[in-house]
Amino acid sequence: NPVRLQAIAAVQATTPPPFTFDPAEEPGAIFGENVFSLQMMQKRLPKGVYKSVLSTIEKSAPLDPAVADAVASAMKDWAMERGATHYAHVFYPLTGLTAEKHDSFLEPVGDGTAISEFAGKTLIQGEPDASSFPNGGLRATFEARGYTGWDIQSPAYILENPNGNTLCIPTVFISMTGEALDHKTPLLRSQQAMSAHAKRVLKLFGHAEPDNVVSYCGPEQEYFLIDSHFFNARPDLLNAGRTLFGAKPPKGQEFDDHYFGAIPERVLAFMMDTEQALFKLGIPAKTRHNEVAPGQFEVAPMFERSNLASDHQQLLMTTFKSIAKKHGMECLFHEKPFAGVNGSGKHVNFSIGNAAQGNLLLPGDTPHENAQFLVVCAAVIRAVHKYGGLLRVSVASASNDHRLGANEAPPAIISIFLGDQLADVFDQIAKGGATRSKEKGTLIIGVDTLPDLSKDPGDRNRTSPFAFTGNRFEFRAPGSLQTVAAPMVVINTIMAEALDYCATQLEAAVAAGTDFDEAVQTLLTEIITNHGAVIFNGNGYSDEWQIEAEQRGLKNLRTTVDALPELISPEAVELFSTYQVFNDREMHSRYEVGCEQYILSITVEGNITYEVGTTTILPAAIRYQTELAQNAAALKAAGLEPDLSTLETITGLIGDLKAGLADLGAALAHEHDEDPLVAATFMRDVVLTAMTAVRTAADALEGIVADDLWSLPTYQEMLYIL
Ligand code: ADP
Ligand code: MG
Repeated sequence: NPVRLQAIAAVQATTPPPFTFDPAEEPGAIFGENVFSLQMMQKRLPKGVYKSVLSTIEKSAPLDPAVADAVASAMKDWAMERGATHYAHVFYPLTGLTAEKHDSFLEPVGDGTAISEFAGKTLIQGEPDASSFPNGGLRATFEARGYTGWDIQSPAYILENPNGNTLCIPTVFISMTGEALDHKTPLLRSQQAMSAHAKRVLKLFGHAEPDNVVSYCGPEQEYFLIDSHFFNARPDLLNAGRTLFGAKPPKGQEFDDHYFGAIPERVLAFMMDTEQALFKLGIPAKTRHNEVAPGQFEVAPMFERSNLASDHQQLLMTTFKSIAKKHGMECLFHEKPFAGVNGSGKHVNFSIGNAAQGNLLLPGDTPHENAQFLVVCAAVIRAVHKYGGLLRVSVASASNDHRLGANEAPPAIISIFLGDQLADVFDQIAKGGATRSKEKGTLIIGVDTLPDLSKDPGDRNRTSPFAFTGNRFEFRAPGSLQTVAAPMVVINTIMAEALDYCATQLEAAVAAGTDFDEAVQTLLTEIITNHGAVIFNGNGYSDEWQIEAEQRGLKNLRTTVDALPELISPEAVELFSTYQVFNDREMHSRYEVGCEQYILSITVEGNITYEVGTTTILPAAIRYQTELAQNAAALKAAGLEPDLSTLETITGLIGDLKAGLADLGAALAHEHDEDPLVAATFMRDVVLTAMTAVRTAADALEGIVADDLWSLPTYQEMLYIL
């Protein structure tokens, strides 16, 4: 009996655990209960220590060692009261995953007993054995050490586990030489750079001593749920995260009946369970609804400071994975687990602001506030136009390549959608030139108010990679599997450059005695004239846009291999070093890691395709071929004329499959070129192509081979039996 049929029987026999709602655990009561929050610190720390912690958070500085001991001790007591036996420095290596180094609170003392110990230095610094994390040449093996250090803006929390709870400390991860080996370090650096120049702009608009400006991020996460029995019967899903075989289901998503449809009871129980877990961790998970594809769903936590949002986003993914398992399901975050069915993205909504001045991407009530809003918007336009290639590479991965530009996600061309009203405002500014006279333009900065900008979802252009949605921009190209830190680092840094430019222009004009409103008008006109080509309100999925974008000089970096060189372009290296986010070495290391990860993903996929094709699909096809041949022989012996058409078709497909496997085997045996980009290009052009040939034959065989011989669960089963 093939595994597949066993899996179907097993799914039908399981009753998933029900979710019973305990009123004592309602959201208000449990929110943040496992977080060592500011309130908790205020309660448990001496006043002076607490004040010092607060100012450290505001300055984004490392924790003062003098107060670290007091914080560590209070944190340990709190954690142990909540059942923690271990602590872990949690960090975010360049694999895009989350890594943890666990240690016990108990430290042995001389007499053979142990005391519970957690000193300040253990809080602010750890030394994981880091040699196994990708570093792109930054760390020679003899200096394999990496250091972790607490990001004090991201609170420590407790991860519950039946085998003992763990106190988790979100950390940066750097090399001995202080270079970033992770995604958090550049996020913190880029935020600082952006803040410095945003504050200059705020000062020009009359805010004397503005607070730090931070970037906010609200990630919308799409994912699939499938039953574990099916998952476990699919070596491709298990090892590569996506199906490398599988014919399109007879009932696809064309009916659109899944979108916002009823959520299956089992999924609802899972969602309630995850929500409760997220609330305890202080993660404000908000909406939930079915997505376009069958078996696909979405969760959108409320936006937070981007470094916190990024940590929470990683934690959300691991929480979802483990809770899905508890419910007998598997949560798939891969961008394209099923070919021919919509993939999953992770929209990154972002804005910048601070408590005093609010959201700087929200149009104000007065012409003066509107002028400030328009400058920030213009900065976004300039940033995205100048550095579209960097935004593109920030979302590049082997898995996201299957989604971008596939008529379900924005194309690889990075453009901006402003919406009708805001586009019209910038049109008027463009026409207005450097003058304040009514005749030329129709909108005068500092005098006229803006029209009410619509936040109506009906007005949204879902085909645009970078869209203004009333009070924020939404970057829709990020993939569901990736960390939001990578795109946020780019957004912060290119915003730093653009705000720096705006501030410098305005400061110079003011120093030269130009009227401020007029200086703003001049700046806006200049930016919209030079960078307006990035604004596109039409259909991003259309073929015409590909042509028009090229005429406009916008980059169209179709695959990861096309995008990776952006990381080491002279402009990129200059940008990141100017704003002290990455030095030259760090950029090159990220480029190398990007190539490595790409090569690795496709190597794994290629190997699994080869193995499953050889040991699962080919034998099933041959068995059925034998059955058909025996049947033909029997018919002949009985004096009947056998119909050989199926036998001929299957024989042809078996030939195709074998030829495909031979090509794939040869491609996989090919020695990698020393140049990582050349090696990556080979993977894309030769290995992926060979995999496709194998799959085409295999998927055709799926439609012919007798059902009881087919052992891979089908799309139909995986997507519709939940
Ligand atoms: P939609 O699917 O219509 O885009 P959702 O409600 O699913 O909207 O998600 C919107 C996301 O945008 C949420 O994560 C939300 O917290 C976030 N968001 C809202 N306002 C802001 C803002 N000012 N800055 C950053 N993110 C925001
Ligand atoms: Mg959205």
